[in-house]
Amino acid sequence: MISAANILDAYTRPGRLYRRRGEGLDCYACAHRCHIRPGRSGACKVRSNRDGELYVPWGYVSAAHVDPVEKKPFFHLLPGARAFTFGMLGCNFHCSFCQNWDTSQVLRDEAASGSAGYIQPVTPQQLADLAVRYGAPLLVSSYNEPLITAEWAMDVFAAGQERGLRCAMVSNGYATPEVLAELKPYLTAYKVDLKTLQPAHYRELGGRLQPVLDSIRAAHELGLWVEVVTLVIPGFNDSLEELAGMAEFLVSVSPDIPWHLTAFHPDYRMTDPPPTPAAALQKGAQIGRKAGLRFVYAGNLPGQLGKLEDTRCPGCGALLVRRRGFRIVERRVTPQGACPDCGAAVPGVWA
Ligand code: SF4
Repeated sequence: MISAANILDAYTRPGRLYRRRGEGLDCYACAHRCHIRPGRSGACKVRSNRDGELYVPWGYVSAAHVDPVEKKPFFHLLPGARAFTFGMLGCNFHCSFCQNWDTSQVLRDEAASGSAGYIQPVTPQQLADLAVRYGAPLLVSSYNEPLITAEWAMDVFAAGQERGLRCAMVSNGYATPEVLAELKPYLTAYKVDLKTLQPAHYRELGGRLQPVLDSIRAAHELGLWVEVVTLVIPGFNDSLEELAGMAEFLVSVSPDIPWHLTAFHPDYRMTDPPPTPAAALQKGAQIGRKAGLRFVYAGNLPGQLGKLEDTRCPGCGALLVRRRGFRIVERRVTPQGACPDCGAAVPGVWA
């Protein structure tokens, strides 16, 4: 049987996010900072040392779709815009509740190996042209973890920028300062999943908490537009103390960071916890606001969350963007990013 790994070997190129050390290569595309010896791969299984050269994924997508930008979710980045979104295969984490496990875990889990058939050869120019053809001003790397394929993303983003597109990543935030600095010239926005505040839980998922916190702060300090998402899972990360701790951390970076609390549905290997009730998201939103966050949203329960999908003016409280699920019903922010009623600045990218 031809494995996904065999197929993917054909879609690689020499990468550049590494340093040589001894006989091996130190990859810094993510916070695992793998030391990759000749003939071996990193923890993500998609970056390998072949005869002293780091080979990285290049030249294919496993999925490419036109999505509403609200689906990423970004709520303060061109509301209502189309986001041409592309993804590859593999991940540096192995979350038991992954909602994209059929592509992210294809190199670890035989149950997901059918996804190797999704591989579509493509060039950065072709992807950027498709985004333009579909009227998408945004080009977004998502679906699997984009940091592990950062060289490919940067090449696609460069082609997008030549065509006037803005670019964003939807990431687990397990980055390094070096990779964020390399990505900065290409990125307008960076979405991070803050999955838990418990170091032991991050270890279960395959990483560590601190690099995620550091990356949220670093991306904000680099001037990227940062939004943070927490999938609220009953019994895993939904205690009032943990949610308050996350909110307080985000406030310490910036009270203007939008925080999205989204509902869990049993998936992949996490099938025991019940779906998140709307009341848990509503409580989490209260906690976020009490901590000082100015924009807290709730999602994944269409029709049950009411005003928690809307953006309100941080100055006068006027409704600025009314949403229903991923649909924009009303949009009143000025192109300059201000409230039309009181003139208060509304942080984000609006035009
Ligand atoms: S991207 Fe991360 S997991 Fe993959 S080789 Fe580099 S440091 Fe290791």
